[in-house]
Amino acid sequence: MIRLAVISGKGGTGKTMVTAALSRLLKGSLVLADCDVDAANLELVEDPRILSIEPFMGMKSAVIDPSLCVGCGVCEAHCRFGAVERDMDAFRINPLRCEGCAVCTAVCPSAAVSMQPRQTGEIKYSETTRGHLVHARLIPGAGNSGLLVHAVKKTAMEQDGSCDLFLIDGPPGTGCPLISTVSGVNAVLVVTEPSISGLHDLKRVVAVCRQFRPRIFVAINRFDLDMALAGEIEVWCRTENIPLVGKIPFDPAVIASVRAGVPVTDARVSPAAQAIQILAAYLEQELKQHDNK
Ligand code: SF4
Ligand code: SF4
Repeated sequence: MIRLAVISGKGGTGKTMVTAALSRLLKGSLVLADCDVDAANLELVEDPRILSIEPFMGMKSAVIDPSLCVGCGVCEAHCRFGAVERDMDAFRINPLRCEGCAVCTAVCPSAAVSMQPRQTGEIKYSETTRGHLVHARLIPGAGNSGLLVHAVKKTAMEQDGSCDLFLIDGPPGTGCPLISTVSGVNAVLVVTEPSISGLHDLKRVVAVCRQFRPRIFVAINRFDLDMALAGEIEVWCRTENIPLVGKIPFDPAVIASVRAGVPVTDARVSPAAQAIQILAAYLEQELKQHDNK
């Protein structure tokens, strides 16, 4: 099985648009995972039919048993995260602030605080025309999106581990969710854009990915908006020995396809669709060659 993650150093580069198109263009059986759990929107273009929804239990958080609490306030004084709230003489934990350190359970003289599992999201398993999709929803304000990303990938592998391709729509940025996404993948495709911040974020995301040793590919979206910076990215990729597998032009057809909720490659022939088709063919060849080694 080839495990390919499509990522970007920052949001808004067109990563999900490219992932959706690749889901149609790359051959063989596949399972899709939307690991951008803070803003999952692959479902907007994959038109999934939900088969099951499972709760996701994140880290434990503290809960005060009011029948045991004597109102001494020691937990409030020791919580570094301001998660203990006082309402008159009653104390309660704000679950959105609780970091699960359990200090309050250690200092409470009445054993009134315990650590309880808390649902911080849900994992959805769906079918699409191209295969199963695992996607998730993180409850607003809940942290630990890296753990949820791990759970999404685990579900996909458990349910569809025999597919030819595991295609992941990754999160933007370089934090914990990205690390969870790229650990264990064979290849990453970084979608960037021709801007100073695009090049800066590309360098950062590549530095993180290299620690996990996947093959790294780069595509520049809307490359023709700044040909000079696109050229700079191209030179940097060559210097770093990273294959630039595609240059996608700015194309109003992309906006129209997003509005219509379909990958741009499903719509009429357009410059962006043609560029992504070339990108997919090149990528497929590269991935297969590596898989056969
Ligand atoms: S330390 Fe224990 S007894 Fe004191 S206020 Fe907190 S929960 Fe209540
Ligand atoms: S577990 Fe830690 S963060 Fe949560 S309420 Fe207790 S002391 Fe505060």
